[in-house]
Parts: sequence; C-alpha cells; structure tokens
Amino acid sequence: MTNRELMERAKKLMPGGVSSPVRAFKAVGGEPIVVREAKGCRLWDVEGKEYIDFLMSWGPLILGHAHPYVVSEVERQLSRGMSYGLTCYEEIRLAELVVSSVPSVEMVRFVSSGTEATMSAIRLARGYTGRKFVVKFEGCYHGHYDGLLVSAGSGVATLGIPGTPGVPEEIAGLTLVLPYNDTDAVLSTFERYGEDIACVIVEPVAGNMGVVLPSEGFLEVLREVTRKYGAVLIFDEVITNFRLSVGGAQEYYAIDPDITCMGKILGGGMPLGAYGGKKEIMSHVAPEGKVYQAGTLSGNPVSVVCGRATLEELLRLKPYQLLEERTRRLAEGISTVLKEKGIPHTINRIGSMFTVFFTEVPVTDYASSRRSNTELFGRFFRNLLHHGVLIPPSQFEAWFLSTAHRDEDIEEALERIQTAVRSL
Ligand SMILES: *Cc1c(COP(=O)(O)O)cnc(C)c1O
Repeated sequence: MTNRELMERAKKLMPGGVSSPVRAFKAVGGEPIVVREAKGCRLWDVEGKEYIDFLMSWGPLILGHAHPYVVSEVERQLSRGMSYGLTCYEEIRLAELVVSSVPSVEMVRFVSSGTEATMSAIRLARGYTGRKFVVKFEGCYHGHYDGLLVSAGSGVATLGIPGTPGVPEEIAGLTLVLPYNDTDAVLSTFERYGEDIACVIVEPVAGNMGVVLPSEGFLEVLREVTRKYGAVLIFDEVITNFRLSVGGAQEYYAIDPDITCMGKILGGGMPLGAYGGKKEIMSHVAPEGKVYQAGTLSGNPVSVVCGRATLEELLRLKPYQLLEERTRRLAEGISTVLKEKGIPHTINRIGSMFTVFFTEVPVTDYASSRRSNTELFGRFFRNLLHHGVLIPPSQFEAWFLSTAHRDEDIEEALERIQTAVRSL
C-alpha cells in the first residue's frame, strides 16, 4: 500500500489523518508519509523508502531509534507488567537519576506528557504563591494547555488573547505574553503586575519558534526579577533536558530555576513527563501538600524503564561534545550548500539542535523568526524528503541529532541535501 492510500484511509478515521496536527504536512505541502519502522538514524515509510531522520520524533530519541540497550530493558519490563497503579521500584530509580542529574531538582512528580508537566507546574506555582498571572514569551510553546495557548495582543506587555477557538478570553487574560529576549518588557511588566504574578514560564533555549538562543543576561534577569517579587521561575526544559547536557539548559547556563518541566528525552520515546524543583515548593503537591494533581498511568513502569535506560546510557557515553561536533559539521555543510545556490539563510544552533531559517536577519525572537521565507522552506522540505532526508515538517521547529548519527551518516545526509538543494 502507498503512503497516499493509507493517508486517505486515516483521514476518514482521524481528523486530518493524524494524532497531532503538524504531522499532516500542512505547513510544508506535499504528501505526508506513513511510517513502517525505524532503526538508529534511519526511518522507512510503508512504501519501503528510506530516510535519514533529523526529526527524531521531535526530540526524545537522543540515542536514535530502537537503541539495543533501551529495547532490551523495556522488553524485560513488558513481561513484568505494563502498569501497576502503585509506586514501583523503577520509578524510584528514575527519580534518583533525575534528582542527581538536574541541578535545581530536589523532588520530582512524574506525569505522562510535557503538556501535563507545564500545566501542573503552573497550577503548583499558583497554589504556592496564591497569585493568578502567568508570564510567558511569544513563540515559546509549552504544550496545549488552555492557559498557555495564548497569543500576544498588540503592544508590549499585554494581556493574552486566545490562541485558538476553545480557550475563553477569561483564561487567556490571565497570561501575560512578552517578546522573547526582551528584558525591558519583563521589568516593566513586573513593575505593573509584579504582586499578582505567580510565575514566569520560559524555554531557556527556545525550540518551538525554531531554535532561538537566550541573549546574554536574559535568563539572569528572569531569575533576579522573579526572586525580587516572590514569583516562581519555571524552566520548560521539555526539549533541553538531557539534550544540551545531562543537567539541561540550567546546567549549561548556570541558572537555578524553581521548577523544571521535563518530557521528551526523559521518556526516551515512551510517553513520560515530569515536573520537579525545590523541596520547599514541591512539598505543596498532594498528598504532601494541597495542590491536587494525579494520573492513572503516571510513573508508568514501561515509560520509566525506557527513561532510566536512556539516562544511564547518556551518563555512560557522555556524548555531548561528539554530538555538538557532528551537528556543527552538518549545519556548516548545509550552509555551504545553500551559499553555493545563493540562498540567504541563518542557522541557529546549540549542542545537537538547530534550525535553518531562510532569512539573513539574525533570528532572536518570534518576530524575527517569522521573517523566514516559509514558501522556500516548504520546497526545501519536500526536496529533502524526496531525496531521503526527513526534517521537521515546519520552519519553526528544531532538527535533532542522536548518537546514532555517525560521521558517515552526516556525510551521506550532506550529499543528499546537496542534490536536493541543487534542484530547488
Ligand atoms: C514538546 C514540548 C512540550 C509539550 O510536550 P508534549 O509531550 O508534546 O505534551 C512542552 N514544552 C516544550 C518546550 C516542548 O518542546
């Protein structure tokens, strides 16, 4: 059966034929592929076509698809039961690994997705402070929780407006949306609303408007101003935890947030999220405290084993320098190919994640990321796909490398990319 035939079947059964919107390739055009299987850094569709994968399930697979050690540990757990509804030994092992790896996390609560992590962290911040406003940054994505699916109104430091039908104005109005990297906007917002702000939530490295790095001093200002006003600083490290280093962006930039949201690599490809932080704050979570949050499958034994095996392997390999080196080679190679063709571009890169923007303007926030030529990106995406290179089907996402991307895979990918770009 072909990709097209299967997508037609899927569309009759699931909205858009997908379980998450961006998988429908709407932003890039062309036919979505239907995956048959994946191994290491390669993925095959139902037609048997092979791709070198830089989507990597949107970030969780830092060891590549079906890593042998992770698979064997998960298989062993499967035959021991897939859910208990009670605390299990493996959950405690993963909690120990998280607490010893992530500098600011003293206690952790497991959930099943990144969305649940951010949603719960915000409830906790509000419960802990007794305040209602949440500060977020334009272009940062924190999952599909109502209060965070909010767009900026006009002007700086505005009350948010609903970012999608289904979110009431009253809820969006509790979120203050500011431009990323704009410390003046942060300071003036705190002057005006400071006593009512429960928390600031931020991607310490933004990955969801394409990769955008924090400008010098930005994260430090967030730390200082939240401390001064008694608000909670939440780092959404769902992408960056165990990606930039074992300790995530907070270790990389040496900032001490109050609550950290985790997901993606934490579950190594299985559904798993977590939020954690200072004992003083985490002790307000039920049953120790009064802020309610629960989950039938939370701390699921298969997910926590998958996460535990992934973290063990990361701690053993310490692959970050090698990943960075290979990612740099790939990004520089792409830049060379684009220059040959005379295509203006900017590549934002940190560690093993990067985005190719089709604009010459430096990309430092949401407004500048939106300058990228998305029509050109669509053609770039489709040509790459045609030549066997899978990248995120949206301009405003990150490409990810894994330890399964060897030097020879990078070389092969660059050859395919060169062919694809020449026929742009
Ligand atoms: C992916 C992501 C989320 C949401 O995680 P889900 O598991 O998709 O719910 C939240 N925050 C950031 C920064 C993310 O990249």
